Amino acid sequence: MLRLPDFQYHAPRTVEEAVALKVKHGANAAFVAGGTDLLPNMKRRIRKCGHLVDVSHIDELRSAGAFEGGLRLGAAVSLEEAASNEAVRTVCPAYAEAALLVATPTIRRMGTVGGNLCLDTRCLFYNQSYEWRKGIDFCMKADGTICRVAESSPKCIAVSSSDTAPVALAAGATIELCGPGGKRAVSADSFYLGDGIDYMAKKEDELLTALVIPDQTGAQSAYVKVRARGSIDFPVIGVAVWMRRRSSDAPVEDARVVLGAVFPDPREVPAAAEALIGRALDAESIRDAADAAFRAAKPVDNTDGALSWRKEMIRVSTKRALERLGSAR
Ligand SMILES: Cc1cc2nc3c(=O)[nH]c(=O)nc-3n(C[C@H](O)[C@H](O)[C@H](O)COP(=O)(O)OP(=O)(O)OC[C@H]3O[C@@H](n4cnc5c(N)ncnc54)[C@H](O)[C@@H]3O)c2cc1C
Ligand code: SF4
Repeated sequence: MLRLPDFQYHAPRTVEEAVALKVKHGANAAFVAGGTDLLPNMKRRIRKCGHLVDVSHIDELRSAGAFEGGLRLGAAVSLEEAASNEAVRTVCPAYAEAALLVATPTIRRMGTVGGNLCLDTRCLFYNQSYEWRKGIDFCMKADGTICRVAESSPKCIAVSSSDTAPVALAAGATIELCGPGGKRAVSADSFYLGDGIDYMAKKEDELLTALVIPDQTGAQSAYVKVRARGSIDFPVIGVAVWMRRRSSDAPVEDARVVLGAVFPDPREVPAAAEALIGRALDAESIRDAADAAFRAAKPVDNTDGALSWRKEMIRVSTKRALERLGSAR
């Protein structure tokens, strides 16, 4: 059995108090919300924290609701609450779908909006016990020097495996942060950096306070996830699609297609959106968009499933997600 190392627990009641505690204890402290990602990583000794700053008791982070056609989800709202929230289901159904596909009911009750966006990148050579990792002489992301997936790679290519992050990008969301220097907002598409180690634009001491999804009037969105089993498993592929058109017969005015679980960041595929914009959403435009997503994806061998199958599933999942939008009225 893997045991947690000793740590000191802090339960601040305000954002300011949480940030101050993080600043005080520096790199030896981590924010924790549901703990469903951080605590397993501490048990595996890939995260080393002497102080945990629990943000789940901060009222300001616990509300979710609609505003002017959009949504504001506090970072400590659980995925279960977000998925069942009527405003979320109406305004951005893809977010509710993605949240509902995370892990299991128990984990969704613990796991949070903010924790899911900050989820550590994953790799078969990293999400292992200390002894296992020691057996391969570690890797660049924790305790080692080289990448075990691609030995000549100058950077870690561990995969972004958050189910909700691709939807946040597709819906044009903004992420709100608060740190010792004050508050700021970052667009979801500039929040992820494409590096498996340094994967977020969030500074070490910044607390993610909310996810803000802008006005979705006239927009449609869907999320399709592929995983080994129907529950528990992380995505081996996730595809979020978003589009705006005046009616179901009208041409697509704007679109976004975002791939999850392929790169170290959730990545937009502009060529797939271009295949849709200005055209009716029909079998032909869907096929062209799915082909563009397939061509853009370069999965690497560090998660479940054969590479060629995962690449093909990007085409299949993009097609399925767009067909869902086509059949929705
Ligand atoms: C068996 C299992 C299956 C899983 N399956 C999935 C899956 O299918 N899809 C998926 O997306 N995830 C999955 N997860 C991962 C995890 O459960 C979810 O991503 C969850 O949403 C993480 O949220 P949390 O609140 O528990 O995060 P925590 O574990 O509390 O934190 C995760 C990271 O975010 C940081 N953090 C948390 N909140 C904040 C904040 N407000 N500001 C700044 N930093 C913060 C922490 O410091 C930590 O680095 C799975 C986990 C397990 C154990
Ligand atoms: S991609 Fe390479 S460096 Fe990153 S976790 Fe995997 S083996 Fe380690």
